[in-house]
Amino acid sequence: DPEENDIDMQTKDLEIYYGKNLAMHHADIQFKKNTITALIGPSGSGKSTFLRSLNRMNDDVATVKGEILYKGVNINQPGIDVYEVRRRIGMVFQRPNPFAKSIYDNVTFALQRRGIHDKKVLDEVVETTLKQAAVWDQVKDSLHKSAQSLSGGQAQRVCIARALAVKPDVLLLDEPASALDPVSTSQLEQTLRELKPNYTIIIVTHNMQQAARLSDYTVFFNLGEAIEYNKTRKIFTRPKIKLTDDYVSGNF
Ligand code: ATP
Ligand code: MG
Repeated sequence: DPEENDIDMQTKDLEIYYGKNLAMHHADIQFKKNTITALIGPSGSGKSTFLRSLNRMNDDVATVKGEILYKGVNINQPGIDVYEVRRRIGMVFQRPNPFAKSIYDNVTFALQRRGIHDKKVLDEVVETTLKQAAVWDQVKDSLHKSAQSLSGGQAQRVCIARALAVKPDVLLLDEPASALDPVSTSQLEQTLRELKPNYTIIIVTHNMQQAARLSDYTVFFNLGEAIEYNKTRKIFTRPKIKLTDDYVSGNF
């Protein structure tokens, strides 16, 4: 299958437990390179649980069974370097969570922690990633101001720059626009469209219009199950399963 080469990440028979509670049933989902996949579904359906398993972010709270293939390698097995996994598979959260540091130090935090202090190198990363996150023009003259003094939309885009600074391949975003106004939301969507040619993007959203206009693929979750997974166009026009139709048309 020539398409096999395009698959960047894939879950196989993924099951996630919180204690004894099964929060995700055997999810088999594929994520292709240079695409945006939207994860939709009602509150409590397991979207964040699923997303956070993809970069081993929920190791401390959940038991994850099954395979998570990243470039063909199962990263859900002993001996895998989870820090490296999280570097390659970056995460952006629902509420912008900049550190209590300058914008500059937020973006370069992970690099500085790895012993990279060359100002020229760090300056370059700051400019490149803030430009990619479409917030450079707004913050370039105040890079040494606290990132916590930014607006929500600016802070969220600085958090995207921070995620990009370590050069991940995959970006996981959990409702990144839910705290943003419509203008910041559409700027964030535009940023993701511009990133798409170089990343595999997976975004949780409650906003059906956002999923429909932004994503290439959509997964619909309900009660800890991936109910339907298909091209976004199909999910929103001719879903195979009635539950999906009810959800996307607001009759849930
Ligand atoms: P929302 O749209 O409200 O963010 P969600 O689809 O992201 O919902 P999850 O947060 O993944 O849903 O939750 C799925 C289920 O797992 C819920 O029943 C929730 O109570 C449970 N759960 C989530 N996180 C934990 C945790 N850390 N410990 C125990 N149970 C959890
Ligand atoms: Mg959630």
